[in-house]
Amino acid sequence: MKDDKNYIKRIIGFIVFSLIGVLILNALVMPALSKAQTRAQTKETNYSFFLNKVDEGSVTQVKIENNEIRFEVVDEEGNRQLYSTSKMDDPDLVSRLHEHGEIIFNESFEQNSLLVNFLVSWVLPIVILIVLWNVLFKGMAKHLGGNAMSFGKSNAKIYVKAQTGKTFDDVAGQDEAKEALEEIVDFLHNPSKYSDIGADLPKGALLVGPPGTGKTLLAQAVAGEAEVPFFSISGSEFVEMFVGMGAAKVRDLFKQATEKAPCIVFIDEIDTIGKKRDGNLGGNDEREQTLNQLLTEMDGFDGKKGVVILAATNRPESLDPALLRPGRFDRRIPAELPDLAGREAILQVHAKKVKMEENIDFNAIARATAGASGAELANIINEAALRAVRNGRSLVNQSDLEESVEVVIAGYQRKNAVISQKEKEIIAYHEIGHALVAAKQKDAAPVHKITIIPRTSGALGYTMQVDEGEKFLLTKEEALARITTLTGGRSAEELIFNSCTSGASNDIEQATKLARAMVTRYGMSDSFDMIALETITNQYLGGDTALACSPETAARIDEEVNSIVRSSHEKAMDILRENIDKLHELAHFLLDKETITGEEFMEILNKETEPAV
Ligand code: ADP
Ligand code: MG
Ligand code: ZN
Repeated sequence: MKDDKNYIKRIIGFIVFSLIGVLILNALVMPALSKAQTRAQTKETNYSFFLNKVDEGSVTQVKIENNEIRFEVVDEEGNRQLYSTSKMDDPDLVSRLHEHGEIIFNESFEQNSLLVNFLVSWVLPIVILIVLWNVLFKGMAKHLGGNAMSFGKSNAKIYVKAQTGKTFDDVAGQDEAKEALEEIVDFLHNPSKYSDIGADLPKGALLVGPPGTGKTLLAQAVAGEAEVPFFSISGSEFVEMFVGMGAAKVRDLFKQATEKAPCIVFIDEIDTIGKKRDGNLGGNDEREQTLNQLLTEMDGFDGKKGVVILAATNRPESLDPALLRPGRFDRRIPAELPDLAGREAILQVHAKKVKMEENIDFNAIARATAGASGAELANIINEAALRAVRNGRSLVNQSDLEESVEVVIAGYQRKNAVISQKEKEIIAYHEIGHALVAAKQKDAAPVHKITIIPRTSGALGYTMQVDEGEKFLLTKEEALARITTLTGGRSAEELIFNSCTSGASNDIEQATKLARAMVTRYGMSDSFDMIALETITNQYLGGDTALACSPETAARIDEEVNSIVRSSHEKAMDILRENIDKLHELAHFLLDKETITGEEFMEILNKETEPAV
């Protein structure tokens, strides 16, 4: 019914629009148009030709204008032809023309046949207008995401994607998340089982976790498992230029979803619209309206019908509390960074898609990638496959995988970077400094690989340490050992070359960060007890921190951090001084080979020192 009314309105609007258009055309455009047409048919000629024709008596019409004379000649066969000639200062002209009494003065030449006239002045404009109307308004409608005549009603796309083709088998390692989601799938399969007993299933579940941990993938897997329609929309798609459009989209989405129930509505990156509303005047009206609409819709529909709303975000702390209360997104499903077993499983899932040599040691790769997300692991497998192709092999092997771990961590090798021998030496001593300090401390992770091949990330070399197993806790001793290892590179430079370089900047950054965390968050310092001096502001995106203490305390924190790093640095210097022979030997070995493995390193370190020459 509403649509009918709209339709009539549009038709009336169109008629008025085209009538006005035609009038304007006729008043302004048509005269000019027909003048131009007449002009085109006119032949230029000279004045004497004109006089001759007048005397002959074949001129039927004359129009005298400011600088020119236009006239019409009819020949013996009755053909009409228009001419124009320039005007001369000829006072006799008028009387001459009068002698041929049949000549008509100043007649309009702009004469067309009746039919052409009608076509040009009425039919053509209407056709042009119809075309214009369509192009203009259709285009605009698309732009506004709605109908140009009725703002606020969005012609929401069909978001539904019936089958995503993903199942829980495609998701590895997220066992807790999968378990929580399986219940939702079961509910969608068999809603009556739950409603019979009177249970309300959660209306919404919020997937939270760092980027690339498979939140989007999990939602797709739920849809695939449940075999129900899957409405997927990203939070940013609600954000529109006009206030009210986002809210209209939310309304539309939920309307479609209730029609298609049971189904899943997935809102990715919900923090775009779900940010905390603040009391500021002149806040973002559009975003707040959208959020309010979302809150209303979530309250409005019947949970027993089988519409489940999933949302994903990596900034849960920024969400509006109203979104998180029971009855809305009351379930929080964490998608954390995978642990060792999880990483191995993810590698295996993705390895199925590429051709690999047999007996690949995925565990070794998983151990070397502590802290990597699922997306990074998927990327490692793909990089390995690309490397195999580059090297002309048809199967991926272990070395492809190892190299691609480094590519993902440190970037590609810069084979043609030109580094002077002197600098290479410094880099070699620096890296061996790290490795040696690590190896001589019992709480440090074993050395896996040392290389001085520069990388595109800017690293000139690096020492890779890989833990034997998975570590969930960090002891104070391990933390100190790590800081000592980080200072090992610079210590070697100081010890051997008696100077220092900018190459240690990344080490310094990491050591400071860890020492600071020991003081402010882990309670591992001597001068502070178990006091939280810093709080993490966004857990999943880089873990920025905010200081929560007085300026005086902040100054003491800095002192404490400095003293931790200083004593670690001194310890590293001691270790290197005691092992200076090994330092020389290993550094030269590395200079020679450019890349050495942990085994080669340990072998040289453990063999009896030859007497110094
Ligand atoms: P986000 O958490 O940022 O939404 P995605 O779900 O988009 O991450 O994950 C990106 C890609 O990473 C996926 O397409 C998949 O290939 C891979 N991935 C992430 N986590 C896993 C996992 N647990 N199992 C298998 N693949 C994963
Ligand atoms: Mg995502
Ligand atoms: Zn270093």
